[in-house]
Amino acid sequence: MVVASANASAGSAAEAAGHLTPGPILLLGAPGVGKGTQAKGLVKAWGIPQISTGDLLRSNVERGTEVGKQAKELMDRGELVPDELVNRMVAERLKEPDTARGYILDGFPRTLGQANWLDGHLGAQAGTLPVIAISIQVSYNQLLRRITGRRICPVCKTIYNTYLQPPKVDGICDKDGAQLVRRSDDSKEVFDERMRAYESLTAPVVEHYRKLGRFEEVDGELEVGAVTAGIMTAIARLRG
Ligand code: AMP
Repeated sequence: MVVASANASAGSAAEAAGHLTPGPILLLGAPGVGKGTQAKGLVKAWGIPQISTGDLLRSNVERGTEVGKQAKELMDRGELVPDELVNRMVAERLKEPDTARGYILDGFPRTLGQANWLDGHLGAQAGTLPVIAISIQVSYNQLLRRITGRRICPVCKTIYNTYLQPPKVDGICDKDGAQLVRRSDDSKEVFDERMRAYESLTAPVVEHYRKLGRFEEVDGELEVGAVTAGIMTAIARLRG
């Protein structure tokens, strides 16, 4: 059966990769390819943190910090927040001791300026493993359904999709009965703006890491566990 074999291959990929030191891992890909979902699978396998610049920014917006105030309007329009602000936020996060064995950067770097900053920042740290980059590929139509259908439980953070993975009762979390919410930037209009930003600013970042060589592409349209297995196998090869 497809699901069983996907689970089996996820298990063996996890076993093969379980012993390595993961180091810094970049998950690259357009909005909605599943970077966040996949990062959570890798966190489970290695016990290293997921560092999502989108989550860090949303947390700043919720807490009403200075960074949050500067970022909110840009985020609501689907535009990128300035490099300098995001780089500073990442630099602070990378000082935390939980990043010692590695971490997954999700949604960063998103511009060549951020990529150059990161390469320099990590290059200056003795003993750090070189960055490896995984690019997740998903077609435009699939991305549109994933983004515009995405609903999130504000309590337990479970992610649903009204087209692809609906809750049992429309608009209600299966686990705790909370009313599901939609991210304010998950509309079609904002999605199109985010795709434009991706094509013009982030696609060159993928090329940058492709040229550096410690890079692999994975098919993000498969079942979630099979994508995780593909990513883990790619990481094991790149760190092998
Ligand atoms: P995400 O959750 O990764 O889709 O990010 C949501 C929004 O946060 C993006 O549309 C941007 O406005 C902002 N953002 C997240 N990461 C970055 C980044 N690395 N550089 C600039 N803006 C970012």
